[in-house]
Amino acid sequence: MVTLTTPVGNLNMVGPIYSSKLQKLGILTVEDLLYHIPNRYENYSLVSKINSLQEGESVTVFAKIDKFINIYSKSGKKIQKVQVSDETGIIDIIFFNSPFLKNILKTGSKIALTGTVKNYLNKLSFIAPGYELIKENNPLLHSSRLVPIYPETQGITSKWLRSRIGTLFKKLNIEVPEILPESILKKYNLLALNKALNTLHFPESQNSIQKAKDRLSFDELLIAQLSSIIRKKTSESIKNFYILKIKKNLKALKMFTDSLPFVLTFSQKKALTEILNDFTKKKPMNRLLQGDVGSGKTIVALIAAYISYLNGYKCLFMAPTEILAKQHYMTFKSYLESFGLKIKLITSETTKTSLTNSYDILIGTHALLFQKIGKSNQIGLIIIDEQQRFGVEQRASLRRKSKYFPHLLSLTATPIPRTIALTLYSDLDMSIIDELPKGRLIVKTFAVPPQKRISAYNWIKKEIISSNFQKKVFIICPLIEESETLSSVKSAKKEFEHLKTEIFQNFNLGLIHGKLKSADKQSLINQFKNGKINILVATPIVEVGIDIPQASIILIEAADRFGLSQLHQLRGRVGRGVDQSYCLLFTDSTNVNVLNRLRILEKYNLGIKIAEKDLHNRGPGDLWGKRQHGEFSLRFTDFSDLYKIKTTKEAAHLIYQNYDLKSLPLLRQKLEQVKISNRSGD
Ligand code: ADP
Ligand code: MG
Repeated sequence: MVTLTTPVGNLNMVGPIYSSKLQKLGILTVEDLLYHIPNRYENYSLVSKINSLQEGESVTVFAKIDKFINIYSKSGKKIQKVQVSDETGIIDIIFFNSPFLKNILKTGSKIALTGTVKNYLNKLSFIAPGYELIKENNPLLHSSRLVPIYPETQGITSKWLRSRIGTLFKKLNIEVPEILPESILKKYNLLALNKALNTLHFPESQNSIQKAKDRLSFDELLIAQLSSIIRKKTSESIKNFYILKIKKNLKALKMFTDSLPFVLTFSQKKALTEILNDFTKKKPMNRLLQGDVGSGKTIVALIAAYISYLNGYKCLFMAPTEILAKQHYMTFKSYLESFGLKIKLITSETTKTSLTNSYDILIGTHALLFQKIGKSNQIGLIIIDEQQRFGVEQRASLRRKSKYFPHLLSLTATPIPRTIALTLYSDLDMSIIDELPKGRLIVKTFAVPPQKRISAYNWIKKEIISSNFQKKVFIICPLIEESETLSSVKSAKKEFEHLKTEIFQNFNLGLIHGKLKSADKQSLINQFKNGKINILVATPIVEVGIDIPQASIILIEAADRFGLSQLHQLRGRVGRGVDQSYCLLFTDSTNVNVLNRLRILEKYNLGIKIAEKDLHNRGPGDLWGKRQHGEFSLRFTDFSDLYKIKTTKEAAHLIYQNYDLKSLPLLRQKLEQVKISNRSGD
């Protein structure tokens, strides 16, 4: 029997090869397949007789195959000419380079054709139309209706998906059980889930599609809201956590901030006050500190860690990459060691020495998640840098490592609109750093078209020479794949060789990428810092967090492959000191749209503004990028739909108050699934 949880590989006509391809689309089970929602629909609901066809019309024609001729042209091209007819007339169909069709389109068979009628050699014809053999008892899936076009991947076409999904709905008559109580469906005028999914794959009309989408987005928001309510209630009921004392530590705190080489900005002070307040409240802190790249979040977190230390508790600090963890380790050491704190670092490469009690602050990558902390260790505070890189569950599991529930401070440069974060994630408080430290200059940004490439290189050379080889330059290689793979490394090596031997012969270059040993990475960063390397060629791994205040030029190759927010993050690697900094966005594209998109970065320097513009250009689905799949990624909902966010919040409270979740097992399952799917960070 096929149910929602059946693995797709068990379905007829799928098997292991297709199921591994489907996995790329995130489809593992029958349920995932049913939730694979079309991007759009091709309207072939108009069925026409051959004699009334008109040029330019998108239609379906039912016909019989009369003749199939393979034509081989002198230039070696293969053309297939198929003549079909109905009771009103005859029309030719032309295919190219598809001689195999002879075995499919047999004379005498009945066929449905879809496409746009064209004038070919002065005759109306179909050029490479869609086709579907008509068989008794088989519903038509690819013609005479609104035909869904799905997100595809190599080897998985929309036609293939239509057949599999068609089989589930039309042959196996699969029913998707309802997850919401009847009263909620009624109150919010929602389609039944089964009906909604059926409609999205087999819409009766264009008008019915929106209502079906509304249902899925309602579910998605409702589930997010419910989880947040549950998390909030759970955290309010926590009794075993440490209240940190602030008053008696104010003097020490002042001494510390006076020792800093700079004065905290107003926003930094405000965020710090909010954090210190949380430490004294009746529930553990769960605060998100949001601030643009370079706004100085680290020092705020560092001071929070110091307070935790002054209260006698330890702190864990997790960062998404090794380079970043090390950088924080160095920063924390330089600021806090002289105040008597012991700072330790663990990464996947640290040997597993016993850490038991020998640290006050433990900094690490994901490796922290696998580290035994020891229940006797009193963890007062957990800090998570670049929190969008981690899943909810990863953060929670770090928190569980301690006997007492630690305070949690998350840092991010990703702009999440406050209204949305606060409504959807009511268990989270937010602090915002909305100014850059004094004296920072705006990074001058230029989109550089191909014809200016050489002069840009020359300009960089001059800049380095005239600074007496003090200036530091990042060159970022093209983004090949989302996560760093061998092919990214290979292309980076090639680019590096090219730059070293043909462009910057008289300069010292280094190449850094994710596949290097961590000691080698660190040594490259050090050489870059101390001036032994003038130009550091890097894969996009340097994107997050790296802080080298003396770097003042960044050149980004194939900039059009990056999302704007990602480019903004990369650009944030420069402009962190007092020098005027520059960002050069190289692109080989001459497409006006591409250049205009890059010009957004020339014009704007605030992350939130850029995210807004990106949203405008690309649609909401991509706003936070695929990589940032923390809890903020919603599949079916437009973030700007505040009304929907409000109604689902109300509905979530209704359900929470009036129903025992045990009586809604399917909804409960969905809540669990959210947790699991958030487990994978990168
Ligand atoms: P981000 O918010 O992107 O994590 P960082 O915390 O790495 O930024 O800070 C960027 C740089 O700004 C660091 O070199 C840091 O020492 C410096 N910095 C932080 N706060 C201030 C300040 N108030 N005045 C001057 N420089 C500061
Ligand atoms: Mg940072």
